[in-house]
This record gives sequence, structure tokens and C-alpha cells, in this order.
Amino acid sequence: MIPYGKQNISQQDIDAVVDVLKSDWLTQGPKVPLFESAVAQYCKSNYAVATNSATSALHVACMALNVSEGDIVWTSPNSFVASANCAKYCGASVDFVDIELDTGNMCVAALKRKLAEAAQQQCLPSVLIPVHFAGQSCDMKAIAQLAKQYNFKVIEDASHAVGGKYNDKPVGNCEYSDICIFSFHPVKIITSAEGGMAITNDEKLAATMRQLRSHGVTSDESLFTQTSHGPWYYEQQALGYNYRMTDIHAALGYSQLNSLGEFVRQRNVLAQRYDKLLSASKKVIPLEVHNSCYSAYHLYVVKVLDCNPTKHRNVVNKLRALGIYAHVHYIPIYLQPYYQQQGFKPGYCPNAEQYYHSAITLPLFPELSEEQQQDIVDNLLALIND
Ligand SMILES: *Cc1c(COP(=O)(O)O)cnc(C)c1O
Repeated sequence: MIPYGKQNISQQDIDAVVDVLKSDWLTQGPKVPLFESAVAQYCKSNYAVATNSATSALHVACMALNVSEGDIVWTSPNSFVASANCAKYCGASVDFVDIELDTGNMCVAALKRKLAEAAQQQCLPSVLIPVHFAGQSCDMKAIAQLAKQYNFKVIEDASHAVGGKYNDKPVGNCEYSDICIFSFHPVKIITSAEGGMAITNDEKLAATMRQLRSHGVTSDESLFTQTSHGPWYYEQQALGYNYRMTDIHAALGYSQLNSLGEFVRQRNVLAQRYDKLLSASKKVIPLEVHNSCYSAYHLYVVKVLDCNPTKHRNVVNKLRALGIYAHVHYIPIYLQPYYQQQGFKPGYCPNAEQYYHSAITLPLFPELSEEQQQDIVDNLLALIND
């Protein structure tokens, strides 16, 4: 079976992990801050806070921006459920902005309309979580302008876009957002097995997230609100969690960072080869990548024109039967039973649903061969035309 994605682990990565296992620190040692500063440097941002997943990074990001009961958080329906769940953890309500069909990203025109309506009805969001679908940045400049106009904060869910660029600058530099989130799950661009990072240029937000990922506890004397009892003293100042990344995971992530540029370059080469192999088809259309973006290509997604749910399912089933593990990204989040229990109904975001019933994710990982790509495309086109 050709998987839709898979990690790429070198001997150097293995050695880095083994070194930690032989060291004094399995967790809360030097590898976490090392990984954090390397990611911050890569993104040209000031601070990076490592966590045990992107989901926990999204959660502490929402908490640091004071998301709580009574707040409204908007995100994209075309994402993994974690992009919405993080706001629910904080007791906020979640709403969804429809996507554009050519990129799968949040549609800025739909966002504008929804904001204008929400302003009239006095139910504006306090936080917006745009998702850089498949590795391509959203139109962050336009989103940042709206954030200023309507006074909301922005968390980029860049789980797919580690190593990508927007206007020639690295995704994660937070020029147009308050916080940016990376995922290091094995299906993503680089991996720490499980792991995430919350990146920001704001010192206070970084300090708050750092405290929240470790029980809301600080051992920094300058931050104590009570007199220290002695050298063992620490203070819990908020209700935090154990969301820490271990040194074992950080060492793997740090080592993988060496390959990030090359991984993304290879993904772009493979994506362009797919584009070319598909260029003659009038029915199978690759996602569009805008000139302002260098996609990290977490996913290679095609849309099948004039599709319907039955045909869509058949094509994916038949590809899998042929040993090609095609996937579908994403089931619109609000169609999940949990979100339907919150009152969302089918039809809420028509583009996200139309897109869902036509999108197929083809295998993409650095080791994918030219022959495999040709085989995948031949089979796909044969199935679409039948
Ligand atoms: C993978 C993913 C997440 C969650 O990442 P974890 O590290 O597995 O918690 C969140 N958002 C998006 C868009 C993702 O693809």
C-alpha cells in the first residue's frame, strides 16, 4: 500500500534520540529550549513554546488570548477537529467561515460578510483561527486588516505549513497574527513523534503559554506573588496542564529541522510533477497555489469536477483496493456529530461541503517515486473517466 504520507527518519535523527536516552534529562532538560530557539530562528519570530501536540498548543494559545465562556471563536470548517475543539476546551462557542473552492482556505470575502453581519448583531468573534490548508498560507494580510478593523485576535493553525512561505517570509513569523501553531505529528512535514509549537512575537503571550503548558506553575522568583518559602518554592498562578514536550521528542524535532528545507523542496518537486501529469485532464483539478505562497505541501489534493458523493466514495475505495491509500481532507468539522449536537446543520458552509465531496488527497512524501506517481495518476484518471 502506498500511504498518503509518512515520516522520513535519518540515522542522524535516531542518534539524536539515543543521545538523550543516555543523558541525564529525558524531559525538562536542554533539548526543549534548543528546539524552541531553533524554530523561532527558522521562522524569524521572537518566541516559540514547545508542547506535546499542536492540539495542546492551540489550547494554551486560546487560553493566553483569554478565550473563555461567552467568547466566540471562528475557524475554517475544512480542517482537523482540533482547530475548533481548542476553543470549546475554553468554554467558548465556535463558528465557521466558509472556504474558497480553489485553495480550500478560509474565504476572505465570506469572512468580510460574516464580520459585517456579526458587528450588527453584536456577536463578533474575539479570536479567529485561519488554517493554512494543505500547506498554503491563507491571505494573512487581508485577515490582519480585518482583525484590526473588528478588534479580534488571530491564531494561525499552520499545522500543515511548517517550512512554507507567505510573501517570501517564513510561515510562523507572526507578522499578521498573534500566535502561530505548528504540528510535528508524523504525517506532517517534520516530526517529533507527537509535538507542537506555539510561536509568537509577544513576550507576555509566550510567558503565559509557557506557564500554562506546565500546570500554571512558575519557579521564577521575579514572578512570585507571595514571599518564597525557600529554595523548593514554586507557585501555581493559573490552572494549567501537563502539556510539556519531552527532551526525547525535542531532540527528534531539532534533528528533523535540519531536513525541513529539503523536505519542502522535494514535496514541491513531487507536487509539480503531479500537476504536470494531471494537466491534460479536464475533470481532475489540483488545488491552486497563489503567487504569494510557497506551499509546504503537507497534502496534495485534487478536486474532481462534476463529482457526487457516490462517485467520490467509489473512486477512493477503488484507489485503496489498488494499493493507493488515497484520503479525503476534510469532513467539514461542523458535520461531526458533536458539532451537530451544538446546533450546526448540513448546508451551513456550502463550499466546504461541495469541496468535501470532490476532494481526493493523493499520496505525497519525499520518497515517492516517479513511477509511483505515474501509476497513481493513471489509475485515478481511468477511474474518473469510467
Ligand atoms: C494535525 C493537525 C492538528 C493537530 O495536531 P496534533 O499535533 O496531532 O495535535 C491541528 N490542526 C490541523 C489543521 C492539523 O492538521
